[in-house]
Amino acid sequence: MIEVPGVLVAPSRVMLLRLLSDASTELDEVLTLLGACGVPGCADLPIGVIDRLLLVAHRAVTGRDLELVVSCPACGALSELPLGASDVPSHTPRCSWCGPGAGVREPVGADLLGLPVDGAEAARELLRRCSVGPAEGGRDQAALDRAEQSLCGNVRVACTSCRGPIEHYVDVQHLVATAVASAVADVDVEVHLIASRYKWDLSTIELLPEKRRARLAALAAGVPG
Ligand SMILES: [Zn+2]
Repeated sequence: MIEVPGVLVAPSRVMLLRLLSDASTELDEVLTLLGACGVPGCADLPIGVIDRLLLVAHRAVTGRDLELVVSCPACGALSELPLGASDVPSHTPRCSWCGPGAGVREPVGADLLGLPVDGAEAARELLRRCSVGPAEGGRDQAALDRAEQSLCGNVRVACTSCRGPIEHYVDVQHLVATAVASAVADVDVEVHLIASRYKWDLSTIELLPEKRRARLAALAAGVPG
């Protein structure tokens, strides 16, 4: 069983901005993010572990847990859907057997890299990569769905007002990638504000500690240039 740590190293947002600009897909982005947070060999981790680590990485980068606000279809009230690392079920290693000698394991990050563009071909190739056991064939998508533990799918919560059911589609990988991209994009604005105001060169500004850079940017934004 792979332990998901409760805390990850908070990477510098300037470094993340540089690293993420080289990532070509969302999966690349989240693997890069985990690497920057000090997780070694994240491409070799099961996707269920990667998703749970992403919730911890979200807290490391933004300082708070991921959270969604969902609206009740019956009464319209808004409810918070907390998505911190302790709000989701823990990961349990799992293989799914389809018959004698034919099984499927949960995909790891690397299994999802470089798949064919065509959806049906990609699904076949993923099934081939994740096959376990000596039997030829006999594996299907349903077995893969049973084995994988990504945090992607419909989540049900009770409305805080009328207690009615609310169902909401959640894709943790996408939510974390979007939130982190937005957090690091703020760095560009901060660097621009400081460079415009103080005329320092970019490398000097990028070397400033996170909090000092944010403070100087706020000052620069508040003082007419
Ligand atoms: Zn309601």
